[in-house]
Amino acid sequence: MQRKLILGNWKMHGSTESNAALLAAIRERMSRENTNVDVGVCVPAIFVEQARSALQGSAVAWGVQDVSAHVQGAFTGEISAAMVAGFQATFAIVGHSERRANHGETALVVGEKARQALVAGLVPVVCVGETLAEREAGATDAVVRAQLAAVLEAISVDDAKKIVIAYEPVWAIGTGRSASVDEAQATHAGLRSVLREYDAGLDKLRILYGGSIKPDNASALLDCDGIDGGLIGGASLKSADFISIIEAAASLHADDSLHVG
Ligand code: PEP
Repeated sequence: MQRKLILGNWKMHGSTESNAALLAAIRERMSRENTNVDVGVCVPAIFVEQARSALQGSAVAWGVQDVSAHVQGAFTGEISAAMVAGFQATFAIVGHSERRANHGETALVVGEKARQALVAGLVPVVCVGETLAEREAGATDAVVRAQLAAVLEAISVDDAKKIVIAYEPVWAIGTGRSASVDEAQATHAGLRSVLREYDAGLDKLRILYGGSIKPDNASALLDCDGIDGGLIGGASLKSADFISIIEAAASLHADDSLHVG
């Protein structure tokens, strides 16, 4: 079993005061024993310097939730991958379903964002996932395969070896209704086969599950071969919940071959 990666997605939450306490608690947990797990937080970009200053020198990585598909220029309000990398960030989430749905991000744009993140030296966390209607129509596999393929087509095979994938069923995000272990494993297996078809060297990429992971379902989801960690939304905002999910991952038997951050 690969060492797990637990990544928080803070979405548009936080304040300088509440962040300070949350970051200190996560840092403190990861300074103790039993840290057989990789941990990071993807914060609103305005807080990336706060995350850097609170976490540098610790076992906790930081990153953002989006980067621009462009290098630089007249793109008011956007933040480039290189700007984020200047704050020693590790991760950039790309293609989160909230951005695909609310900001009209197409598969092509997501591929370009992943490419820009890689050029800047960031690890893109490529989110894929189906809506409830797509699942009910039996289209889950086809939808997530197409979303992943669009990213793989935008980047080189060597760069593809550096990405993290997050399977996040849209119907499970923020709803309290997680995918079952069987549903998550089946979709992860489909994604794994896309990777294998693309290049045999991609077989070991981490595929996280995201969607209503909480302390009470974390162990069941994480204790599976093929689920290489979790992308955590709501539960990453409460230090006790996030730390409890970290504990669940750290207590699994995992090797340390894929340490990131
Ligand atoms: C997310 O938005 O990436 C997510 C997984 O959210 P939640 O854990 O709140 O479902």
